[in-house]
Amino acid sequence: MTKAPLTILLASPRGFCAGVDRAIQIVETALAKYGRPVYVRHEIVHNRYVVSSLEAKGAVFVDELDEVPADRPVVFSAHGVPQSVPAAAEARGMFYLDATCPLVTKVHHEAIRHAGDNRQIIMIGHAGHPEVVGTMGQVEDGRVLLVENIAQAEALQPTQPEQLAYITQTTLSVDDTAQIVATLKRRFPAIEGPKKEDICFATTNRQQAVKAIAPGCDAVMVIGAPNSSNSKRLVEVAARAGCDHAILVQRAAEIDWSALDGIRRLGVSAGASAPEILVDEVIEACRERFEVTLEEVAVTRETVAFKLPAVLTES
Ligand code: SF4
Repeated sequence: MTKAPLTILLASPRGFCAGVDRAIQIVETALAKYGRPVYVRHEIVHNRYVVSSLEAKGAVFVDELDEVPADRPVVFSAHGVPQSVPAAAEARGMFYLDATCPLVTKVHHEAIRHAGDNRQIIMIGHAGHPEVVGTMGQVEDGRVLLVENIAQAEALQPTQPEQLAYITQTTLSVDDTAQIVATLKRRFPAIEGPKKEDICFATTNRQQAVKAIAPGCDAVMVIGAPNSSNSKRLVEVAARAGCDHAILVQRAAEIDWSALDGIRRLGVSAGASAPEILVDEVIEACRERFEVTLEEVAVTRETVAFKLPAVLTES
């Protein structure tokens, strides 16, 4: 049977970012150095495949520190943790490794600086996301007000309107965030903020790459987890850039092939916590059903790499 032709436009950059890469390396290096088990508080990054692979190597994932024996190393996830978490680990004499992405740590420092200047802080982000919980937990309760959308930015009634600052989650939609920031600046002209928003380079680059491919695609498939903020944003970006058939899948086995009937140009990207092996798997599954032509569309090249904590690299 002859296969129908399918052109796959592969967005680049896609998949693992420097912060995710570092977090996974921290767990793997800790396992090599200290033996198993190494405990990890929360999913190290939001990807089931990554978590299962590390479990197979001896990592044990827990929700809270009290599930960790005091004599084993524990790693904090790439999303960052409230200050209360390392404080609790220290109180129990535990050895911990902090895999918080350095770009999230940068936002933590902004929050601490604004609190030191007695500013009320507005955080633009998604309620309940671990990064937001971690960032809000850098300062005392009540210091940070969370804003998720323009309507909330319009309705906000801060107690210190003359002494405000804003910070953002690192994995938001660049375009949505710009509108929320514009709303805050219009309402509170004296508000302090970062030079650019806190959205990281990896999130920005992946959104730009999806914008570049989406208008020429019949469908866009983003490989990523349903709890991965940056992956969900890529689906929204594809839809807004002109491809109304944009979907999120965790891996090839999940694809509803009937929904791809008649598709001739498929865009493919992956969230920052999705490994390239899952992209390869999707392309392979497409090759089984279609005569595939692969075109990579690169908007930039990423060369950023973050160092591991010194304790892991010194002998
Ligand atoms: S998405 Fe950005 S902030 Fe999050 S881990 Fe990757 S580089 Fe760090």
